[in-house]
Order: sequence, then structure tokens, then C-alpha cells
Amino acid sequence: MMTSDFIFYLIVGLILADFLFDLYVSLLNAKHFNDPVPEILSDVYDDKEYEKSQAYKRQQLYFGLINSGFSLLLILSFIFLNGFEWLHHFSSSQFDHPILISLVFFGVLFGASFIINLPFSYYQTFVIEEKFGFNRSTKKVFWLDQLKSIALTIIVGGLVLALINWFYLLLADNFWWLAWLFTAIIIVFMNLFYSKLIVPIFNKLKPLEEGDLRHKIEVYAEKEDFNLDKINVIDGSKRSSKANAYFSGFGSQKQVTLYDTLIEKLTPDEVVAVLAHEVGHYKKKHIIFNLMMALITTGLTFYILSFFIISPIISQALGVEEPNFHIGLIAFSFIYAPVNTILGILTNIISRKFEYQADNFAKETFSGTYLMNALKKLSRDSLSNLTPHSLNVFLNYSHPSLLQRFRNLRQNV
Ligand SMILES: [Zn+2]
Repeated sequence: MMTSDFIFYLIVGLILADFLFDLYVSLLNAKHFNDPVPEILSDVYDDKEYEKSQAYKRQQLYFGLINSGFSLLLILSFIFLNGFEWLHHFSSSQFDHPILISLVFFGVLFGASFIINLPFSYYQTFVIEEKFGFNRSTKKVFWLDQLKSIALTIIVGGLVLALINWFYLLLADNFWWLAWLFTAIIIVFMNLFYSKLIVPIFNKLKPLEEGDLRHKIEVYAEKEDFNLDKINVIDGSKRSSKANAYFSGFGSQKQVTLYDTLIEKLTPDEVVAVLAHEVGHYKKKHIIFNLMMALITTGLTFYILSFFIISPIISQALGVEEPNFHIGLIAFSFIYAPVNTILGILTNIISRKFEYQADNFAKETFSGTYLMNALKKLSRDSLSNLTPHSLNVFLNYSHPSLLQRFRNLRQNV
């Protein structure tokens, strides 16, 4: 017999289990920090750089442990002190309309978690990243970023929450399909116009400059029938020296974005190899596949949510007698967490397969050697871990480890 007490301890148990499992994987991974570097990666670092990468790994480990330990303490205290019940009564005393009550409820939670996370985010940027020479963000950029994120979350998040809440008030547990339809439209829209709408809020995009690199890219793009207008350079150097590139959008909105730091660090041929990898993601239809997966899992999540949100046992577990939208959603997010973890692992498995396919595409259409050189430089410059534990890679890596990518690229070279 399921009682609200059972659900309460289930929620606490799931939070603890998630924390302990993550802790176990982090410590297991850390045990292998000093493993000998595999032979084919032996020239990634010299001795001094390797020492630096070891220090960076340890620093990130400690920071992660303190951050997650602190979060655990906070969330468990909040649950045991009936924080959600208190917040529900507080929100209900401010407004009469259920949508406004829910917005206050989530607004307070968002505001509190934002303020609590702020010192961690500040420390990460201006102490850790600064110490290892990655940080290029100024205080002004940092604070403007925070303000922009808050504004975006309030506008987009508030609107989405209010509308889904409205569907719930209209249709009760049948709200899920309308919520799905609406969210699906938002997801497709964001996939299409992310580069045009969201990126410019934080960064500047510009076309490739004339010169050797542009010429080499032109030759490659023409060969692969990829429109050059779809290649942009982003000012990643505004925040960090770490380099990157990504593919986004589909149809007429498809584009490759190269970080200016990538162009700064790599030779033109190496940049073309990275670009070829990104074009591979497009040619192998990875973007469309990921979009479909997102749509399916969103539908599934709303469908399962519809059973939880009307259940009094669920809301009573968090101390609220009558079920309502916000308490149902919060309780569900705790209970559904393991499903999300499993979905995340599956997504990573698929993502790593796609990375191999994109690497192979770059090798077939341009050069595996230049790609390996590029990956080597990028790993060195981001002080990345050359000896991650295989369980950590399996669970948490969206890309194969450098060793795995080299082994794959070395086949049939
Ligand atoms: Zn990739």
C-alpha cells in the first residue's frame, strides 16, 4: 500500500542514492588521476603541463564535492523542515489565482537557488578558471550574463510554466498532450532559431574573415556542398580561452559556429578538420535524430507526469493536502530523477556513437591526421583528463575519451 510517508522516504532515498552514486563515480575516477598516460597520448603534455593538468583535475574534484555536498544538505534540510509546504502556503497567501500562486512558488525556488549558486559560479570563474589561465571574463561580463539569464528565465520559463499550468486547469490529467504539443513547438522553434535569437544575447557572431583559412574552408565547403554563409565565428574569447565548435539548426537555418579561440589556436588545416567533423554531424542527420529524441522523451515525461500530478498521496508526501500543479510537478521531478538519469546515460551512449561517425566523416572527407592534431591541441589547452575511468566515461561523457577517439581514427590510417 503506497502511503504519503512511503513517497516521502522514497524521495529522500532517491536524492541520497543519486548523491552517493555520483560520489562513488567521482572518487573512482579520481583514483585513476595518476594512471600512466597511454602511449599514443604521450605527446599531448610535456611534464610541466601534465603537472598543471593534474592540479586542475584535483581542484575541480574538490570543488565539485563541496558544491554537491552543500546542495544535498540544503535540499534535505528543506524537505525535512517542510519547506515546500511552507512555500505553498506563502504563495497561496499572496494571490488567489492558481497560476499566480504557482508562479510565485517557482519564482521563489528559482530566486533562492540562483542566489545560492552565485558564489559557486563566481568562484569557478574568478578563482579556479583564473588560476589555470582559462578565464577571460571581466566582472562586467559576468554580472551582465547573470542579469540576462535571469531575464530570459523569467520571460521564457514564466510563460511556459503559466501556459502549461493553464492547460492543467482546463483539462486536469488530460493536459499532457496539449502540454506536449506546446513544448514540442517551443523545442522545434528553439532548435531552428537558437543561433539567431539566443546566441546574440550573449555573444557576437560574425562571418569568416578573408584569408588563408577562409579560402581552405571555401574549398572544403564547395566539395561537400555546404553553404559558406552557414559558417559563423563566435567571440568565445569574451569569457574563456577554451575553444569549441558546434553545429546547430536544420533546414535553411543550419549552421556551423566556430569559436574565435579555435581559430586562434589551430592551424587552418586543423580548423577545417574540426569543421569537417561538424559538417559530419549535419550530413549524418544527428541534429534531426536528437530533436526527435527530445520530442519523444518530452511526450513520455508529460504523460507520466499526468498520473502523478493529480495524486493526493504525492502532494501529501510534501505536506500539502490537496494536489496542485506546482507541488505535483516538484514531487514528480524528484521521483522521476532516476528515469532522467537513465535517459541521460542513453543519450550519452548515442552521442558518443555520433561523435565517432562525425570523426570518421572528417577523416574520409578531409584528414584524420589534422583532426587528431586538433583534438590533441584542444585537450592540452583545456587541461583535459587523459585517464578517465571507463565507468565515468560510460555514464557522463557525451564525447568518447581522447584515447578512444584516437584509436578509432588510427584504424585504417
Ligand atoms: Zn561532435
